[in-house]
Amino acid sequence: ATGAVVVLGSANADLVVRAPRLAGPGETLSATSATTGAGGKGLNQAVAAARAGARVAFAGAVGEDPHGQLLRGVLQRDGVDTALLRTDGARATGLAVVTVTDDGENSILVVPGANALDDLTDDDRRAVAAASHLVLQLERPRELVRRALRVAREHGTTTVLTPAPVSDGLDELVALTDLLVLNAGEAEELSGEPGVERAAEALSRSATTVVVTLGADGALVATGGAVVRRVPARPAAAVDTTGAGDTFAGVLVALLAEGARLERALAAATTAASLSVERPGAAASMPTRAEITAALPDLPDPTRLQEAT
Ligand code: ATP
Repeated sequence: ATGAVVVLGSANADLVVRAPRLAGPGETLSATSATTGAGGKGLNQAVAAARAGARVAFAGAVGEDPHGQLLRGVLQRDGVDTALLRTDGARATGLAVVTVTDDGENSILVVPGANALDDLTDDDRRAVAAASHLVLQLERPRELVRRALRVAREHGTTTVLTPAPVSDGLDELVALTDLLVLNAGEAEELSGEPGVERAAEALSRSATTVVVTLGADGALVATGGAVVRRVPARPAAAVDTTGAGDTFAGVLVALLAEGARLERALAAATTAASLSVERPGAAASMPTRAEITAALPDLPDPTRLQEAT
């Protein structure tokens, strides 16, 4: 069905500290700068899909604190519906403390905070049932993800899972997934198969369609146990690949939700992701629909596409 996208996932305040090197145990080191921005795979994918033109609701949780207000504001500025964004009075907004060194090394500490909220509300259920696509990652409690996938399945809502971070025991979730989107390392880890083709083929015996992203090599698609398509990347001068995967997933779903065929959605997703790596930041670097269309001139605007299908 054509229509709305619900992203159920994580939202974090990203505290990015730039330093000459990573601090060692017991060491106090003078850092160069610190900035606070919006992050979390759920928030990133919601923003990517909204910028690409989708009608998106974000089902997440933040704390009753300034970081929560910051994230709410970021989502609203990009036109993401925040009616399902809950405020957890007992926990702080999720926080990722990222140290980036001058030579590009990084280390990350994540405090899940309000992302640990694990109940699916009646409003969430109604929104999932009415949506065309439900998008999930694994930065919220496993049981919450499982329940949401089941509600989607019951109502014919297409399920999209980006299974990161990968862990053991995800078979049931993958079996409830229509479209699995993951990078090469995640595919190998999740399937236990060496080699990205074999991994994608194995996963596509469980999820309906598997899209594996391959960085500068684009992406491949597997269905029914076989690799069926390869999509080249759009060449890009990469300066910061943070959020490339989330841009890809968000834009892919945005196009599918407006009725585009998979091939067209993949072209838009690789184009959008390549544009995002040419600029610094995660959500900050995600392109708008106009920018995607400028780089991919034969991509119809949403209104014309609705008429054509
Ligand atoms: P990240 O963790 O950095 O967000 P990822 O590991 O989840 O990324 P990748 O496979 O590295 O995902 O990248 C996702 C998509 O971004 C690729 O399928 C490709 O379309 C695009 N992309 C990434 N790196 C490049 C690059 N150097 N040049 C062009 N496109 C790129």
